[in-house]
Amino acid sequence: MSRRRDEELRDEDMQSLKTQSNEEDLEEEEEEEEEEEEEEVESSDSGAGETWISSFCSMVGHEYFAEVLDDFVDDDFNLTGLGQMVPHYKQALELISDLEPSEPVKAPTIPLIEQSAELLYGLIHARFILSRPGLQIMAQKYECHHFGVCPRYYCDGTGLLPIGRYDLPGYETVRLYCPCCMDIYMPPNSRYLNIDGAYFGTTFAGLFLKTFPEIEQECSQRRQKQFELKIYGFRISELSKSGPRMKWLRQMPKTQQQLEEVENDTALKEALQEQQKNEDEEMDES
Ligand SMILES: [Zn+2]
Repeated sequence: MSRRRDEELRDEDMQSLKTQSNEEDLEEEEEEEEEEEEEEVESSDSGAGETWISSFCSMVGHEYFAEVLDDFVDDDFNLTGLGQMVPHYKQALELISDLEPSEPVKAPTIPLIEQSAELLYGLIHARFILSRPGLQIMAQKYECHHFGVCPRYYCDGTGLLPIGRYDLPGYETVRLYCPCCMDIYMPPNSRYLNIDGAYFGTTFAGLFLKTFPEIEQECSQRRQKQFELKIYGFRISELSKSGPRMKWLRQMPKTQQQLEEVENDTALKEALQEQQKNEDEEMDES
């Protein structure tokens, strides 16, 4: 019995090897074809069958980006106002949409147009991920941990979400938000440090969590675990200078009564107003 099973397995292996080598042959042929085509069309960077958007998103360091659907880019309404923000807008849009340039492009302007295409794509992307299909694509990426996991021990591998602290490009690069500890982090790899936070924007993470409330529900259970410093087994008093005063940051009101207390807390209201004022000033300065 077992010998026959082994033989069957070996046959299967052989077959899979054959198909693999066939596939490799095919790939080699395809590559050769692609090379030939590239020689013919020197101006386009993308290989045969690959769109500008898919090749942009598959670049190293662009893992956080979702592939914006063609329908979204084709709809002028979604691009409202971007013409004023992006230099070489028309050529950049043609590049993103894989259209032939309507006017001849001079060689020195090609790198500028490519730069503009990246900016334009980022700004379209920030709008796309707020749409229903965009949120769905980002949810799939979130499930696969494409944005990484929180480094905080008690967050227990909670997935992070890309976030920008500003909606205008040029202020700050992308940060990662953890729905469990509700804090933001620097991306763990320097390859993400030239991606503008505005390509994800300030709204996405909040809207995402309201669209998929089950994530926050899971987090609320994890959030209850908090680290506490101890000295010879004794907790440090909250009244001590080094006491665990920041603890309240991660505590959520559990009952309606507690929620009302928060609502009526004038000190908290003042603190929030102060924080808003500081953020506005920071924005003005930068
Ligand atoms: Zn966390």
